[in-house]
Amino acid sequence: MNIVVCIKQVPGTTQVKINPETGTLIRDGVEAVVNPFDEYAIEEAVRIKERVGGTVKVITMGPPQADAALRSAISVGADEGYLVSDRAFAGSDTWATSYTLSSAIKTLGKVDLIICGKQAIDGDTAQVGPGVAEMLDIPFVAWVRKVEEVTDASIKVERLMEEGYDVVEMPLPGLITVVKEINEPRIAGLKGKGRAKNAEIKKIDTTNMTVDPERIGLKGSPTQVFRSFVPERKSGGEKISGEAAELAQKAASVIQNLGVVK
Ligand SMILES: Cc1cc2nc3c(=O)[nH]c(=O)nc-3n(C[C@H](O)[C@H](O)[C@H](O)COP(=O)(O)OP(=O)(O)OC[C@H]3O[C@@H](n4cnc5c(N)ncnc54)[C@H](O)[C@@H]3O)c2cc1C
Repeated sequence: MNIVVCIKQVPGTTQVKINPETGTLIRDGVEAVVNPFDEYAIEEAVRIKERVGGTVKVITMGPPQADAALRSAISVGADEGYLVSDRAFAGSDTWATSYTLSSAIKTLGKVDLIICGKQAIDGDTAQVGPGVAEMLDIPFVAWVRKVEEVTDASIKVERLMEEGYDVVEMPLPGLITVVKEINEPRIAGLKGKGRAKNAEIKKIDTTNMTVDPERIGLKGSPTQVFRSFVPERKSGGEKISGEAAELAQKAASVIQNLGVVK
């Protein structure tokens, strides 16, 4: 089974600050980590490899420093790391990112299963997994909480729903995105760390993959961000208390006074 895991390097904090003049994230001095949901994706890929055999390739699109994320994945059992990095990719939105990643995946030979995290904790859109599947024209299942069975031809999974779960069988090649309920990621041992340190990370850029220059980077990004800002902190608001009937009366009059209903 040839498995590819898409991983993203993200700031290791939720306290990300925005430069008020440029509206961009201030990344300087912020520690970078593997997106937590992608740790579950790596673990699941390694577990599938251990069950049915095969290889696990990890791929990330990002700046040269994202090399560390790939090494971290290799330290816990991934076999090969691929860094998709080129100045021409700067300014990519989720559409251009999905296109670039899917083009890079096409250079990796036969792929049976692609695993992504549910979402990235910084961008938070959850669009890249489904976007990659669409651009590769393969089926996908999002929010997978358990892989029940996997063969060369298909995968049977449990998809987390608001109330319970669905059991879905999908032909391969296909893509799944995983939630944190799926497993408990292992911690790297000394041997894994050593392997990761010495691993060769292969670079994919515009010189060794085929991409349409109109569909990459800022130029290929239909999303336009007009303004980024830190929302003002609002004060505590008005609290009302009392018995249920009295509370309902008070709440109704507050709503009426606001002019929301007459
Ligand atoms: C106009 C615009 C310009 C932007 N410019 C830049 C920029 O210059 N530099 C920059 O870093 N970001 C930039 N971004 C942000 C970038 O588009 C998103 O971070 C990226 O598309 C991933 O989206 P997300 O974070 O919502 O990931 P999600 O869709 O929430 O991620 C879901 C899953 O997809 C996979 N995945 C996501 N991103 C990657 C990746 N990069 N590599 C491998 N797998 C991945 C992971 O498995 C992840 O768990 C820009 C966004 C916009 C709108």
